[in-house]
Amino acid sequence: MLLQREHQGDASLRPASVVDGVYDSIYERLMSLAIAPGSRIPIDVIARDLGVSQTPVREALSRLEREGLVHKAHLIGYSATPQLSRKQFEDLFNFRLLVEPEGARLAALNMTPAALAHIEEIAADMAHGAAPVDRTSRYSRFARIDAHFHDEILRIAGNEVIRSTLSSQHVHLHLFRLMFHSRVTQEALEEHENLLAAFRAGDSAAAETAMRKHIQQSRDRLMLAFE
Ligand SMILES: [Zn+2]
Repeated sequence: MLLQREHQGDASLRPASVVDGVYDSIYERLMSLAIAPGSRIPIDVIARDLGVSQTPVREALSRLEREGLVHKAHLIGYSATPQLSRKQFEDLFNFRLLVEPEGARLAALNMTPAALAHIEEIAADMAHGAAPVDRTSRYSRFARIDAHFHDEILRIAGNEVIRSTLSSQHVHLHLFRLMFHSRVTQEALEEHENLLAAFRAGDSAAAETAMRKHIQQSRDRLMLAFE
């Protein structure tokens, strides 16, 4: 919609929102694999396709590059980041299993009513949220909110080293890009609910266990992508 408005020359539209629209559009194509991992992303083609100039496309791509979803090579330009290898996948999950259950335990110990209300809100947004236009945007939106949910728990846990290390890996975007499947989202919601129940009860051991199970089960679901 933003893009159409720009097309009609709406001068009141701020360039930032054009960039956001272009960003969302490329992001969804990357997450749904409409732009295949490893393939080139020609700026002129995308700009023509979206009916915008090349400037917002460049800006959107550099934002996606910071998230690790695309990369830029000298003389070649932008390409979609290749899919995770099985080794990278296993390394990521082993790392998550080391730090996130402990993060959930610490978060349960530090939980306040306001912090709990905030993560409950994020969880509810994941389950219902604004009506998504199609399956693709629903899935890519889910990936982003899931990243936010896990990041908030680590923020409440209060260990900034754990939080920033995990955040710099953009694990959710890479993991969700492996597989485009509605089962991934439904089961994750149920596991998040178990985690929230532990937080509500103020039970740090149960929170640690629920997070460990959630990560193990996510790993098992996404492992299918390699078979
Ligand atoms: Zn999750």
